[in-house]
Amino acid sequence: MNGIAERLALVQERIAAAAQRSNRRAEEILLVGVTKTHPAEVVRAALAAGLHDVGENRVQEAEAKIMALAVERSRLTWHLIGHLQTNKAKKAVALFDLIHSVDSLRLAQALDRHAGEQGRRLPVLLQVNVSGEATKEGFDLAGWQEQPAIFEQFVGGVEQILALPQIAVRGLMTIAPWGVDPEAARPTFRATRRLRELLARRFPAAEWTDLSMGMTDDFEVAIEEGATIVRVGRAIFGERGTVSGER
Ligand SMILES: *Cc1c(COP(=O)(O)O)cnc(C)c1O
Repeated sequence: MNGIAERLALVQERIAAAAQRSNRRAEEILLVGVTKTHPAEVVRAALAAGLHDVGENRVQEAEAKIMALAVERSRLTWHLIGHLQTNKAKKAVALFDLIHSVDSLRLAQALDRHAGEQGRRLPVLLQVNVSGEATKEGFDLAGWQEQPAIFEQFVGGVEQILALPQIAVRGLMTIAPWGVDPEAARPTFRATRRLRELLARRFPAAEWTDLSMGMTDDFEVAIEEGATIVRVGRAIFGERGTVSGER
């Protein structure tokens, strides 16, 4: 756990520098510390170091930590960043403050229903897959800039999601293709921002504030391309043990 405060400060400095390079203010960018695979004590150490936003990719794993840190609940904002199965939607609504990974109309409908039952309006991001190579997760938008039909089909789904009363769409989330060169991620981030611009034009009444993009290997490039939320794990908490399904 040692070194979290130092590494956090370093990441915050890099965020500020990337913001400055792109004529943005560092305060426009929210740092979510990704604590998947790490125990609750690590979250507590991060909180002590001043990090209040925490990202987890699995409902069950997050639930244990949220319970363990129940007394700190009001000081923490929990982000779900991993794929969510519809049968876990109810639990996710009860646990998380923001869900980044809404990737189907069906999931959005389930979240809407549970949010209604739990008496809340749930902020969400729509996860998009603009490159087709990153993961299989997210609304599949591969080729959308060349093929209007792909974009229009997505727009149709978005329209139905925006009509759900207990869901509040706040923007888009994306994961760039896995690679060592952060520059390789730039086209993905740029395309995601372009997609947000088009959606904001099409649906001006909705909030398209947030772009959740950028991880340890590419968060500076993401900030240069307009990220408002970066999700950083390893640069703050160190390498994760090998757990299946992680990257
Ligand atoms: C694990 C994960 C991250 C953080 O990745 P790092 O490379 O450790 O920074 C960000 N976003 C998602 C969706 C993840 O699953």
